[in-house]
Amino acid sequence: MASDMASSISADLLPASAAGDEVSRSVILRVSGLTVRFGGIVALNDVSFDVGKGEIFGIIGPNGAGKTTLFNCLSRLAPIGADAIEFDGVKIGRLSPSRMVGLGIGRTFQNLALFRSLSVIENIMLGAHSRTKSGVFSNVFRLPVARREEERVGDEAWELAKLVGLDSVGHVSAGDLPFGFQKRIELARALAARPKLLLLDEPAAGLIHDEVEALGDLVVDLRARLGLTVLIVEHHMGFIMKLCERIVVLNFGRNIAEGTPSAIQKNQDVLQAYLGTAQRAHC
Ligand code: ATP
Repeated sequence: MASDMASSISADLLPASAAGDEVSRSVILRVSGLTVRFGGIVALNDVSFDVGKGEIFGIIGPNGAGKTTLFNCLSRLAPIGADAIEFDGVKIGRLSPSRMVGLGIGRTFQNLALFRSLSVIENIMLGAHSRTKSGVFSNVFRLPVARREEERVGDEAWELAKLVGLDSVGHVSAGDLPFGFQKRIELARALAARPKLLLLDEPAAGLIHDEVEALGDLVVDLRARLGLTVLIVEHHMGFIMKLCERIVVLNFGRNIAEGTPSAIQKNQDVLQAYLGTAQRAHC
């Protein structure tokens, strides 16, 4: 099934003449010549790649390679050139950061930012905030419009909790649950904003072997059910090589390789820059 999926995605990415369609229709994210400087440090240096709609796409590289900076650019938390990133036909550098809300890019963070005293469901509901319409007035005075909206968001949060396997602990405080559960809360919270593109920042970090396996299955399942495109930054080589259809490798801010997991594993530049040490550490 995975190889069927991969071949249909590669067909999507064929040049226009071969695919019988315009290639831009199937590319959901295009990064072109992205450069980011922090003072004298060049965190990203002329990085370019495309991500196809529905792909599970990996970004790897040694510490300090620029992976988090890239995610921050996609979330508009780092400065970008006007035309450097095009998402779903929109050049996001031309939008004010506030207009990023609702564009369809959701994200989880390396360091979990959950409200520990709130329940699983309440944490997930917070992720839907960008989609709610009732204003401060109707919320403060508990007007029917606000109550109906809260009920709807609550129902959706329960559905998401079920989807990620948390419905049995929906009423439990997030802070009372083990780390693996907390990572799933954050995932469900990102999904509550109904993203088209989901950015997962080191989702496997801190998980035990069985949890990593289950997470991989969950990501594949969520992609199929919700029609997601998924971008993953990860140091866990086993996880990324098994899950991703294509991978970009960054080193000192440069894109040094791009391709399928098997091509990346054989790439001499990658082996030299990164995989040799990473494989010893993680596989
Ligand atoms: P890791 O795997 O350790 O998380 P990374 O690949 O995510 O690393 P980045 O965090 O993107 O790497 O950092 C890339 C480079 O940019 C590093 O040299 C880092 O020190 C620098 N950098 C990142 N953010 C800033 C900032 N806000 N100010 C100054 N330098 C920064």
